Amino acid sequence: MAEKRKKIVYRRHDRNEIPLLPPEVRKKYLNKEYALGYGHTAALDEADRCILCRKPPCTPSCPVNSEMEKWIGEIQKQNVWGAYEILRKHNPFSSVCGRVCPQERLCESTCVLTFKDNGLSVGIGGLERFVGDSIRLSGQEWTDEKEPPTGKSVGVIGAGPAGLAAAYFLARKGHDVTVYEALPFVGGVMRYGIPEARLDRRALDFEIDLIKKLGVEIKTGVKVGEDIPFDEIRKKHDAVFIAVGSGRGKKMGIPGEDLKGVYTAIGYLMKVNTDYVDPMLAPDEEVELPRNKRVAIIGGGFTAVDCIITALRLGNEVHLVYRRTRETSSARDEEWDHVAEEGAILHWLTQPIEVIGNEKGEVVGLKCVKMELVPDEKGGRPRPKPVEGSEHIIECDAVIMAVGQADNPTAYKDVKGLKIDKWNNLSTVDENFRTNIEGVFAGGDVVNGGDTVVTAISHAKKASQAIHEYLMTGKWEYKGEES
Ligand SMILES: Cc1cc2nc3c(=O)[nH]c(=O)nc-3n(C[C@H](O)[C@H](O)[C@H](O)COP(=O)(O)OP(=O)(O)OC[C@H]3O[C@@H](n4cnc5c(N)ncnc54)[C@H](O)[C@@H]3O)c2cc1C
Ligand code: SF4
Repeated sequence: MAEKRKKIVYRRHDRNEIPLLPPEVRKKYLNKEYALGYGHTAALDEADRCILCRKPPCTPSCPVNSEMEKWIGEIQKQNVWGAYEILRKHNPFSSVCGRVCPQERLCESTCVLTFKDNGLSVGIGGLERFVGDSIRLSGQEWTDEKEPPTGKSVGVIGAGPAGLAAAYFLARKGHDVTVYEALPFVGGVMRYGIPEARLDRRALDFEIDLIKKLGVEIKTGVKVGEDIPFDEIRKKHDAVFIAVGSGRGKKMGIPGEDLKGVYTAIGYLMKVNTDYVDPMLAPDEEVELPRNKRVAIIGGGFTAVDCIITALRLGNEVHLVYRRTRETSSARDEEWDHVAEEGAILHWLTQPIEVIGNEKGEVVGLKCVKMELVPDEKGGRPRPKPVEGSEHIIECDAVIMAVGQADNPTAYKDVKGLKIDKWNNLSTVDENFRTNIEGVFAGGDVVNGGDTVVTAISHAKKASQAIHEYLMTGKWEYKGEES
């Protein structure tokens, strides 16, 4: 007899929130996570809120389609090991994604509990983090299964989430993988960009070590295109995956931005997170960290939030300056509450127009103008327009520009015939992440110019499947535009 489905109880509102350290405590620690994660009891209770939909809308809302209805079902049965097995079929960085994915815009945005009465979604991100952390903290040895050796080899350029995830999927398929990384450390933005206060490095290292355990070789300190030509890598391997990100720091092009005390976000965060200044990513930048000063941070995305978190923990008075509104910013909404609780002063609808310096060439202020949102004539989203006579100065000793990243084409700029787009990126790849050069694939920020960790992993997942097919059949067909 078919098993009777248990009666569904919709627990729409009693979501278990992730406990946070109090603001006055957490802002003392640069390298301690402030979101504590679910304990065992809360995780089991939260998993029980999931009604295990037959056709779960959350799974397609996750870029790696991580099959929540299966792994959350395993947590309900108290089988965390089984839950991790399912998660790892789709993503080698569950402990990271559970922490840093903007879940409210992805998996959690389509949870059926939210469909009525302003319900609150299942805490999918928190549960994913709980699974990864439970395996790590259990001390039990984890080994991923892999297929027998194929005798084929793949060179991966860049050890960020895209490169490492591709290495993981390809190694599990039995291929030999070597990753070439320009920096002296592994992880890309997950290590040098996202602060430890949001991402515990022990969780990151655990999942990187599992990739190494599959036999993936990672060569750090090798800048492809400078230390070793791309063609040499191509000759060494049967296929190449380019995953170099889009991580060069960018400034705004306003007067005064070359003064001492003006930083790109990437240059600043890399120095704090790794104590390293890379001339490629932070060109011409002297990074002397402002402590106990007044810092203005310009931008409204993940990077701006990370600069605020970091600058607060270095004892600074922090001003966020953003030309649009909180609602139209791309950072996670709850994070604005978190940094405001920690004392950040948030200036919305404020456009910086000049960095003001003193006679010694040091920053003393940021000249800004207030903005108002007006309807867009072309029917697009409302656009900010300066309010006449609203010029004012925010007094500060340092300015950090978190206004997006620039291209970083060193690895592939000299590849003959490779189609590069007008931003110097590789958005020219086809739907399977093939470039127009046989055997060469690309994915992650180098393709989309900057998105999320899980999107980079989703590119790697699809590209690895295409690389595997190419290696095993030798068939090649680039389906992008040829011109
Ligand atoms: C400060 C910051 C905070 C962010 N916070 C979040 C967040 O909270 N959640 C989220 O989902 N996303 C976040 N993002 C976005 C996310 O980190 C990126 O989308 C993601 O890291 C892209 O992965 P990637 O592997 O393509 O590139 P990257 O992570 O940039 O990795 C590329 C790697 O390639 C290496 N490389 C570059 N050139 C060469 C070369 N010539 N030879 C060899 N190696 C090379 C680089 O050194 C780097 O290690 C954030 C981004 C930033 C900058
Ligand atoms: S990887 Fe990110 S988007 Fe996907 S289920 Fe996990 S937390 Fe949600």
